[in-house]
Amino acid sequence: MPGDELPAYLYDLEALRSHAAAVRAALPERVELYYAAKANPEAEILAALAPSVDGFEVSSGGELTHVHQAVPEAPLAFGGPGKTRAELAKALETGVERLHVESEHELHMLGELTARAGGHREAAVLLRANLPLSGRELEGSALAMGGRPTPFGLDPAQLERCLRLLAEGHFPRLRLRGIHAHLASGLDAATQLAVAEQIVDRAVELARRHRTVLPEVNVGGGMAVDYADPAARFDWAAYGAGLGRILDAHPGLTLRVEPGRAMTAYSGWYATEVLDVKHSYGVRFAVVRGGTHHLRTPAARQHDQPLAVLPVEDWPHPWPRPVAESEPVTFAGQLCTPKDVLARQVPVDRLRAGDRVVFAMAGAYAWNISHHDFLMHPRPAFHFLDDQVRASESRPAWKAGRSAPARPASTAR
Ligand SMILES: *Cc1c(COP(=O)(O)O)cnc(C)c1O
Repeated sequence: MPGDELPAYLYDLEALRSHAAAVRAALPERVELYYAAKANPEAEILAALAPSVDGFEVSSGGELTHVHQAVPEAPLAFGGPGKTRAELAKALETGVERLHVESEHELHMLGELTARAGGHREAAVLLRANLPLSGRELEGSALAMGGRPTPFGLDPAQLERCLRLLAEGHFPRLRLRGIHAHLASGLDAATQLAVAEQIVDRAVELARRHRTVLPEVNVGGGMAVDYADPAARFDWAAYGAGLGRILDAHPGLTLRVEPGRAMTAYSGWYATEVLDVKHSYGVRFAVVRGGTHHLRTPAARQHDQPLAVLPVEDWPHPWPRPVAESEPVTFAGQLCTPKDVLARQVPVDRLRAGDRVVFAMAGAYAWNISHHDFLMHPRPAFHFLDDQVRASESRPAWKAGRSAPARPASTAR
């Protein structure tokens, strides 16, 4: 690719399809797989995932509109704090499958909106619970959200109150389906299972005490993705087997999971060109075309984005080519801020101005979380690589509306 066609995002839709199908295959039937659209909501990505997921989780009115348009027949779950009245009304109008209620105020607002809708409109809700977690299995894991102060979900006392209001029939058009808890992220399969087990136990206990049924428990997303070791993958087989054991113990239960990062991270790359290589006070820097305004993931998470160097032999200039040899290189972008770093101190055999660099694991929380307009550099190109010609085969009825992506394999925009 010529340098001025870079940077570019490359997405391998075929790899994404196989990965999603493998995730689905690892999960028992009574586990519904929802993709958290905020990880990467590109329409092509949603369409590639559609055959393997049961639906999509959206977290704003904007995502709701976008995802509904991209995959019109797909069931949606609407979560997120601070939903406005207009967003809730839109969700009811769209007919979302589930509403994840995050506060008592929101429950009242939803109750009123459904009551007003002339007797037709019902909403199926999950109460999002901010549950305290306990147990030895969880010691030492980086639990970020559960049982701690957050703007998300209902504290145990608020959860009790909402359950009581629902049980007392205050909201005749709201159907309580169960509990939702997305308590942490970056957890391995064993820890995820320990968390899921606690959430299910709590749901069972709440149902018993409130003399209701909570047939559905959404145990959230947050499956670990290790940027330091791209080959280390979340153990979906072990996770599926563990969820199967939980389901065996609770015959009336349906579980739902809503991963984002672990679904799409591995299927995206950010490819660019080395513009310059230089020394600064003992550190070797490569400056690449683009930067964290396109790929904010390493800045947001404070990690080194995994990368590969693709050598380019051509050097058109009469002056010496800037080069780094057998030394660690820090990869910076074009922004005038020291925070614009994609990877630090990466050992390379040789790196020269004009070589290409491909940053891996850029398929989730990458382009869509980046501050695109800072410094007004051009936007990257987007290529959706696709070998699939038999796209209609594995398509369930509700997804039939979308036409198969055409060859040639790559589309830019
Ligand atoms: C962000 C989010 C997810 C997805 O989390 P990942 O770490 O990307 O798997 C799932 N559920 C909720 C409620 C979220 O906010």
